[in-house]
Amino acid sequence: VLQVYEPGAVRLEHVDMPEEATALREEVREFLDAARSAKLFEPICDSWLCGFSAEFSRALGERGWIGMNWSSEYGGHGRSALERFVVLEELLAAGAPVAAHWIADRQSGPQVFRHGSEEAKKLLLPAIARGECYFALGMSEPNSGSDLASIRTTATRVGGGWLLTGTKLWTSHAHRSHYISVLCRTAEGDDRHDGMSVLIADLSADGIDVRPVKLLSGEAHFNEVVFDGAFVPDSMVIGQLGAGWQLVTSELALERSGPERILSTFPLFVALVRRQTQSDGGVSSEVGRLIAELWALRRLSLAVAGAIEKGRDPRVEAALVKDLGTRFESRVIEVARTAVVDDGELDEFDRLLAEAILAAPGFTLRGGTSEILRAIVARGLGAVRPT
Ligand SMILES: Cc1cc2nc3c(=O)[nH]c(=O)nc-3n(C[C@H](O)[C@H](O)[C@H](O)COP(=O)(O)OP(=O)(O)OC[C@H]3O[C@@H](n4cnc5c(N)ncnc54)[C@H](O)[C@@H]3O)c2cc1C
Repeated sequence: VLQVYEPGAVRLEHVDMPEEATALREEVREFLDAARSAKLFEPICDSWLCGFSAEFSRALGERGWIGMNWSSEYGGHGRSALERFVVLEELLAAGAPVAAHWIADRQSGPQVFRHGSEEAKKLLLPAIARGECYFALGMSEPNSGSDLASIRTTATRVGGGWLLTGTKLWTSHAHRSHYISVLCRTAEGDDRHDGMSVLIADLSADGIDVRPVKLLSGEAHFNEVVFDGAFVPDSMVIGQLGAGWQLVTSELALERSGPERILSTFPLFVALVRRQTQSDGGVSSEVGRLIAELWALRRLSLAVAGAIEKGRDPRVEAALVKDLGTRFESRVIEVARTAVVDDGELDEFDRLLAEAILAAPGFTLRGGTSEILRAIVARGLGAVRPT
């Protein structure tokens, strides 16, 4: 049996950068040049997940480059989505260590700003905007990844709040974060998408055990987080009780379309272009093709940011950005491998390549796997699928 789905795609429009965003780009570049010279950081690949620096996050907070879109009442700066896009793009392109505040700034903070209680907004948003409060995302579980609606973590009602019980997995930076936003079941529902809610738990509370998961490199940036009756007050319930599924899926465009889905290997790409131009006086046709592709992907990511700014819901286009963008990030590595020189010395190019190789397996998994994203795109474009 075949069924034709209604197209769900949003028509994207070309976005011209406003003058204030271009001026801001210069300001960010000057700041980054000075920070690099002062040895505040050295460029790394995948810096939005692997580059954790409380000092650097605080420095960005002082500049007003975290919580940029929120109102000043909550420590924000009333800037546009395009101005924020420019700041993110420059930070990622420089390989700056932005992982500490990344999730709080991209996802949890905006969620609290739009749907949180007044108490949660006052407690969390100014601290996030100062670059002093970090968040982990508690969505995936040991048996729930792509099929997120199968989660089993539950919250049961007690006086003044909820008790959380269950296990979350792959929670990036939970061992260094202050809070975790948890998708859990607060009620039974006829449909398995019903009865879910989003609760914010204080990671220092009793009944929470954070267990780092070690990577092949010896580093640990994600964790298993076990909740054994951890208390969450009512003021930390985000949005309507039972509307958690709608809340998390409505944010997928934000999570999947940003420049971090294109630029994870950009510092390596720059080193590759430098290496080729210095030794050959120009770049190879393969690198030329990658440059052209990057430009097109960047326009796509920017157009999605423009659509979000206009209040639209470009979740299909965001899925496309992530699928194409993460494949581009991995191809940079494949091309860079061919430029390795076996001279017995390890230089910056080799270091960046090694970092990128270790991070690459995660590119097409985190934030939704490629298979799932392609299914979203196919359905959204009105493709036909068996039922
Ligand atoms: C670096 C990294 C950081 C992460 N950080 C976080 C985090 O902070 N918080 C968090 O909650 N999660 C996080 N995750 C988890 C991530 O969201 C999941 O890994 C992802 O959703 C896939 O789930 P899974 O690993 O359970 O794989 P599964 O869902 O078991 O999928 C296994 C394979 O089967 C394929 N597959 C599954 N279902 C289908 C289908 N219907 N059709 C076709 N193919 C299918 C998938 O594409 C995949 O290739 C992170 C993951 C990584 C790699």
